[in-house]
Amino acid sequence: MYYDQEISSVFEELGTSEEGLSSEEAEKRLGEYGKNELKEKEKISIFRLFLSQFKSILIFILIIASIVSALLGETIDAIVILFTVFLAGVLGFVQEYRAEKAIELLKSLTSPEAVVIRNGTEKKISSTELVPGDIILLQTGDRIPVDARINKEFNLKVDESSLTGESVPVQKITDSLPADTPGTDRKNMVYAGTAVVYGRGRAVVTATGMKTSFGELAGLLGTIERSRTPLQESLDKFGRWIGGATLVIVAFVAVLGVLSGFPPLDMFLWGVALAVAAIPEALPAVVTVGLGLGVRRMVKRHALVRKLPSVETLGATDVICTDKTGTLTQNKMTVEKIYVNGQTLNVTGNGYNPEGKFLKGDSEVPEDDKHLRIFLLGAALCNDSNLYEEDGWKITGDPTEAALVVAAAKAGFEKSKLDRKYPRLGEIPFSSESKRMTTFNKLEDNPENFLNSELVTFSKGAPEVILASCTKIFQNGEMKALTPEQAQEISEQVKELANQALRVMALSFRPLEESFSPEKVSFREIPVEKIEEDMVFSGLIGMRDPPREEVKTAIKTCEDAGIKTVMITGDHKVTAAAIARELRILKENDLTLTGSELDSLDESEFENKVEKVSVYSRVYPIHKLRVIEALKKKGHVVAMTGDGVNDAPALKAADMGIAMGITGTDVSKEASSMILADDNFASIVSAVEEGRNIFKNIKNFITYGLTAHIGEVLIVLIAILGWQILPLLAVQILWINLITDGLPPMALSVEPPDRGLMKQKPRNVEEGLITRREIVAGLGLGGLIASQALIVLVWALNSGVPISKLQTMIFTLVVFSEMFNAFNWRSDRYSVFSLGLFTNKPLVYAVLTTVILQLIVVYIPFLQFAFRTVPLSLSELGSITALASTTLISMEIVKYLNARRVH
Ligand code: ATP
Repeated sequence: MYYDQEISSVFEELGTSEEGLSSEEAEKRLGEYGKNELKEKEKISIFRLFLSQFKSILIFILIIASIVSALLGETIDAIVILFTVFLAGVLGFVQEYRAEKAIELLKSLTSPEAVVIRNGTEKKISSTELVPGDIILLQTGDRIPVDARINKEFNLKVDESSLTGESVPVQKITDSLPADTPGTDRKNMVYAGTAVVYGRGRAVVTATGMKTSFGELAGLLGTIERSRTPLQESLDKFGRWIGGATLVIVAFVAVLGVLSGFPPLDMFLWGVALAVAAIPEALPAVVTVGLGLGVRRMVKRHALVRKLPSVETLGATDVICTDKTGTLTQNKMTVEKIYVNGQTLNVTGNGYNPEGKFLKGDSEVPEDDKHLRIFLLGAALCNDSNLYEEDGWKITGDPTEAALVVAAAKAGFEKSKLDRKYPRLGEIPFSSESKRMTTFNKLEDNPENFLNSELVTFSKGAPEVILASCTKIFQNGEMKALTPEQAQEISEQVKELANQALRVMALSFRPLEESFSPEKVSFREIPVEKIEEDMVFSGLIGMRDPPREEVKTAIKTCEDAGIKTVMITGDHKVTAAAIARELRILKENDLTLTGSELDSLDESEFENKVEKVSVYSRVYPIHKLRVIEALKKKGHVVAMTGDGVNDAPALKAADMGIAMGITGTDVSKEASSMILADDNFASIVSAVEEGRNIFKNIKNFITYGLTAHIGEVLIVLIAILGWQILPLLAVQILWINLITDGLPPMALSVEPPDRGLMKQKPRNVEEGLITRREIVAGLGLGGLIASQALIVLVWALNSGVPISKLQTMIFTLVVFSEMFNAFNWRSDRYSVFSLGLFTNKPLVYAVLTTVILQLIVVYIPFLQFAFRTVPLSLSELGSITALASTTLISMEIVKYLNARRVH
């Protein structure tokens, strides 16, 4: 099917043409064939998600506890326990549902796009909208989203290893093949799930969605890894540890309680409640929500995280290796200088507007200057970008190339017209390795008749690469042999232009002999070296690509935050250094290395230097891997940007692979952990800030929870051991657990970054979530809450109030104290008052709600009955609040003392 047909009959069968489908037809077919996507594995239904909340062992124990209570006639306890179990389930459900939504949002944001021809014009659409009969454009780095029959190709090579396991890319063709050609040899077809690694082409879509022959749709991009994050793992571990310890203590005290005369059922229920209170089983879900919400905030700041664990890594990043073009700079190039015929010309004009002059000193260069004409002709023809007017001047394609189109237009060379007049017969595409691009055009009625040939090859690329392939130079109206002195002079010029922070490229051409005529020999059959040799040097071009405005501040922020910025670029050493200096990436004692200098260093030599190098220039993608390895060996957490197909291994190897959303290829995006929607370096820094903030918040709300749990266990322990009194009933403990673990941690997870966040050194990745600091804080504040309860206990015993009042007071005190404590953990170092008491609104609401819930339990009669509470007088409530407030006051004092010690 299709592969054995001529392209015209494929077009006919699929009811399409070179012009593509009409929008109406495409829409009709979309209804008919459905979206181009694989049927996803069944999503977890909302109901199942809800049910899954009740799978935990603890809930199970609670349910058993309620059954036991019911059997023994304690119906109220049974109902209350079931009710809290249900509420805990609802809470867990809400949290997981939100996390799930955050992940779905990510999926929709990272879904791939495709370029198609519809109604005769190119259009970018979501690849899910592709239908059979669409003409799809393929270029290097694309993940192919459909099965398609190729109708045009320029050196199109496709990596089909995802299907065949064969890692050598397959050279594609357009000719029809015999009907008995086996599946893997159908070289005129491309298949969903494979990737273009070289060249470009066009193909007619033959199958979409589940109909694709391998069914392996390029859905990779849309999938978000859901593996447990290191944070969750360490939380699990911590949970198990604290759970085990509590169980031992609780069992011990329960036995002691029974021995000293408490009813066994009470002790059993109480033990279960306490165990539930002490085991932070809700925390992993809250952490996921925390991460999920952070991811949402990052999206607003143009960073799309593809894997949840990356959020943690981001916060620990201490080296960011970044591309230059487009990430640090605006990628809005303007040609400023042209060097032809031994002279440097100034080019005037603004942006992409094709109006401007070519000046030699103060005077304009004549229109018919041969040197400038042939130079600009090459610049426009050896070029895949274009310029059009639509609400101002716009470009398509690579901005480096577009700048050349604009410059050519200033001399009256309109690219679209030229393309029609002088058709391209063949090309060798640009790659980061070759650093050049070559085309082969037919110049019929050649106005530049001095070339004496209708067939001309044009090359453009890095000056040293182009110069190395030139044996001649076009000067004073003639093609002459290139002398070493002239080559030397050109190199000097390159340096001079690069020193002005200009991006420099060289152009060359070559009139081809008859023997290269396409009628005689296909362009592809000639070895590359043969085409790109013996060329005539045409000139140099200097382009300005201004730094992005926000980048300078972002780099300063990194510096303050103990993060090193390293520039890794394919550009010239001198240009790279000039821009790096301007951006303050390159400082006085820093080193720069070129790709070839790096090659000459062995592993240990490089490792000794790597921490001092801040600019790598003229590198190949493969060098990025070496940089990552060396930095990792030195214990750094490395973020690395990339956009091309060949960057994929480096993006995978880095702790944090960052792909470009605009210029990045599908392949690089798939290999990354994060995608920058705006390609902007400053967005990386914002993401790091968010990453740090999320980690800080998670750490804070865990410490908050830890404090509360330690407090509760201590109170009960001391009261039972010291006074043989149950200070809190099982249902009360469950209630405390439910309301204090419910809303406040969620609110703490949205605490905004504080001012010191990007002034601290990066977090040590080795350091776990719970360090000595957290334990000390937990014990200290937990101890404080227990002491407050003891004060109430001793007072109550001395004044002879009934035990139910004593329990109600302690019950309320613990809840209030934990609410004050929630404010403590908005920051572990800054006073709540300096943060602004109401700056975290969700927390204010969470605390108010929790306090109201507690008052309801104390004052509404039927709940009094359920929770065995008695109403408290206003003065009792006031005293409890005052006592509870010491939790906030003491932590404020500690923060104040710590701040003084640091300064
Ligand atoms: P960065 O790695 O920071 O994005 P870069 O764009 O300079 O920088 P590459 O895209 O690898 O890196 O380009 C390397 C060199 O190849 C450039 O410095 C330029 O001389 C040359 N070059 C870039 N684009 C083209 C192109 N479209 N055609 C020909 N040569 C090009």
